[in-house]
Amino acid sequence: MIKLTAKPVIEKRRAQLAADTAAFKAKSGKTPHLSVVLVGEDPASRIYVANKSKAAELVGFTHKTILFPASATPTEVKAKIDALNRDPKVNGILVQRPLPKAYVESEVMFWVDPKKDVDCLHPENLGLVVAGQPRFVPCTPGGIMVMLEHYGYSVAKKVACVIGRSSIVGKPLAALLLNDNATIMQVHRSTQNPESVCRQADFVFVAAGAPRMLKKEWVKPGAVVIDVGIHRDETGKVFGDVDTDSVGEIPSALTPVPGGVGPMTIQVLLENTLRSAKLRS
Ligand code: NAD
Repeated sequence: MIKLTAKPVIEKRRAQLAADTAAFKAKSGKTPHLSVVLVGEDPASRIYVANKSKAAELVGFTHKTILFPASATPTEVKAKIDALNRDPKVNGILVQRPLPKAYVESEVMFWVDPKKDVDCLHPENLGLVVAGQPRFVPCTPGGIMVMLEHYGYSVAKKVACVIGRSSIVGKPLAALLLNDNATIMQVHRSTQNPESVCRQADFVFVAAGAPRMLKKEWVKPGAVVIDVGIHRDETGKVFGDVDTDSVGEIPSALTPVPGGVGPMTIQVLLENTLRSAKLRS
């Protein structure tokens, strides 16, 4: 079984992005800028935000993290995002999830100006993805597609099963796969006999957020399995939605957790930020 790791993909794409950024700066005299809004003290979110800032710096962007205490009201945070929307120097705005309970996702998703929504979560941007005319690429699903391309896989004419239907991963991933001519099956909590549905798939994408839920009964021999899940046990060890002991050598390829899909998300976020800067100028 092949391990599909992010490292070689990132090395290649990041070098290209740094070169593209340098060329953009030389031509326009402007520097792409990413603003990250973080509400609360969630330790995992702090790590993700620090990683995003570090990566932004490495490719030559400027960036700023705006920190709010968990007690900040949605009105206060929205006012700051409105100001960032108006600031011509800001190209990308990212609101780190999860947000405290007082925040209603169906409202927050409209706050960032769609032209600065480099996380690709605004319904306008998701709609453009579904229409096959993306302005930005949804970060985690886009990172998965980049990874498949890097390793020489094509989903065209193949059966793909997406487990999960969130607006951040499952739904946009299904749209990208469909745009690339895969035949899609989407498994979720209301699916009957999910194992037998999934077992028909050449490509399995598991984004259920359910620790080690994908067992051998779900996987057709030789399938390519992409694990999107991220979990941490009591000792801090990170693992995914795939039960690697159970699936064993049944898949022909598998993304590890950590070191698989996770790092790809940041890469696409940065690529979207440069795209936003280019669209503006
Ligand atoms: P979510 O909880 O919003 O959505 C999970 C989806 O899976 C839901 O549609 C739910 O119906 C479905 N589901 C849950 N259990 C299931 C089961 N047993 N069988 C079938 N369907 C089931 O989660 P999300 O935001 O889409 O994230 C999913 C996972 O991916 C999480 O572990 C998250 O941490 C991870 N994630 C990773 C990245 C990254 O790698 N950068 C980015 C986003 C999310």
